[in-house]
Amino acid sequence: MRTISSLSEVKKFRHNLSGTIGLVPTMGALHDGHLSLIKQSNQTCAHTIVSIFINPAQFSKHEDLSSYPQTLDADLELLQGLHVDAVFLPTNNTMYPRGYSTFVNESMLSKVLEGASRPKFFKGVITIVVKLFNIINPSHSFFGEKDAQQLQIIKKIVSDLNYSIDIVSCPIIREKTGLAMSSRNTYLSAESRKSARIIYNALKHGVSILSGGNRNVKIIQQAITKKIQSEPSAVIDYVTISNKVSLEEITGDINCSVLISAAVYFDGVRLIDNISTA
Ligand code: AMP
Repeated sequence: MRTISSLSEVKKFRHNLSGTIGLVPTMGALHDGHLSLIKQSNQTCAHTIVSIFINPAQFSKHEDLSSYPQTLDADLELLQGLHVDAVFLPTNNTMYPRGYSTFVNESMLSKVLEGASRPKFFKGVITIVVKLFNIINPSHSFFGEKDAQQLQIIKKIVSDLNYSIDIVSCPIIREKTGLAMSSRNTYLSAESRKSARIIYNALKHGVSILSGGNRNVKIIQQAITKKIQSEPSAVIDYVTISNKVSLEEITGDINCSVLISAAVYFDGVRLIDNISTA
């Protein structure tokens, strides 16, 4: 497994590979969620390139860029056990050199949910993903359903901008308690980690009300909210029920496949999770 930081080197390395190439973009602090994407790439593609880059462009000033977990040695050790051809570890200066001024945005799907709470976020995500696509030129790229909106947006930009890349969606990997794995879980105290499992329980509760025949969005939303609030330390940012494809928030009765998403703070740590219906 090669570790490469320079642009020219990674391009040369990629140029010398033949067959399908899977790209797995990450911000590091790798856990089983990330590893599931890499394993999926191993199964799908002849070669796998993993990128680790904490992308400053997707963090707002008040967010956790400076404290975002960095565990590079442990990450590289984990990757050694998989079939990874190269890890691309660009510096900030490589990705955003002095005078950098080009950003890519999406103007529909990125306005709601996470985009409403974090207005800079998707512009930063899309820009870095597009740059990685241009640098690596993969045949496939792997993204987690943990970030369901991000996944939808990446699929949209691939279609809108005519990239010939297969975007492969990978299911959410959870801890035994049901808490969705996330690099940010390491910020949580042991107690909050326990409490935070309420998010997934509440989302499942919402789905069970829906499958029980009650299709009223307000009732389901309220039931999920109430369940999350049964943990006194939970601070809800949003609980939203949207059309699974358009991500438009649903009003009235639910008559389509939905994405139920929640963003909830525990200990000041913002956690997101979602569940969708067929
Ligand atoms: P991140 O390092 O948080 O930017 O995540 C990199 C990729 O891993 C994204 O495509 C995420 O959706 C995916 N990912 C993160 N956590 C999980 C999880 N628990 N299950 C599946 N995929 C995940």
